[in-house]
Amino acid sequence: MKIAIMGAMREEIDPILEVVGSHTRTEHAGNTFYECRYGNHELVIAYSKIGKVFSAITASVMCERFGAEVLLFSGVAGAISKDLKIGDLLMASALCQHDVDITAFGHPFGFIPEGSVMVESDVQLRSLAAEVAVDMGIDLFEGIIATGDQFVASAERKAWIEATFHADALEMEGGSVACVCQNFGIPFFILRAISDSADGDAGIDFDTFLASSAQVSAKFILEMVQRLGR
Ligand code: SAH
Repeated sequence: MKIAIMGAMREEIDPILEVVGSHTRTEHAGNTFYECRYGNHELVIAYSKIGKVFSAITASVMCERFGAEVLLFSGVAGAISKDLKIGDLLMASALCQHDVDITAFGHPFGFIPEGSVMVESDVQLRSLAAEVAVDMGIDLFEGIIATGDQFVASAERKAWIEATFHADALEMEGGSVACVCQNFGIPFFILRAISDSADGDAGIDFDTFLASSAQVSAKFILEMVQRLGR
């Protein structure tokens, strides 16, 4: 199976590249794509750079040019739910774009005509993840992820996103990757380890916990890859 693994930042894919060993590099569309065999699978791995636009480009290229049959995203996020602590893992059940606002025309926040507020992730990949979590002895959370082109470091903005979208975590790429995969008909899975609480301390916490949280997420994704298609 051809599996795409993507992150937004170098720190999110480095732990994966270290484990998969030797790989080739292809430069395309302003980005670098790493390919290798891993177990029974062909992998294409890349980090997109931050935000909805760059992540949409990378996800599209992985689907269209590299022929990805499934896409797994590994990264970090800010927590909304009080149950989520730094280092906890959350898989997205559905994703939305919290910064989309054409409410002036009577549409709800996050809605684009001919689209939907929420895009659901693949149910089979989620149930595979639930099995992996049990075997690894990890508490895996499941919930809604809200995406926007903003680093949220404000209790007020976070409360608004929670109230408007019932989101459990927020970040800057999942919603756009979900939208790309839905349109290409590629099953996708978005996993995030918590790096901060999206409040006043978010910037400091993010810098402190990026590497360790990214590692937690990457390790889990690699375990999923080994079990895919078994
Ligand atoms: N420190 C980086 C910027 C990081 S932006 C730099 O200076 O280059 C935050 C990244 O982590 C994004 O890719 C986003 O998906 C995720 N993220 C983690 N916490 C977040 C938060 N509180 N708000 C938005 N995105 C967050």
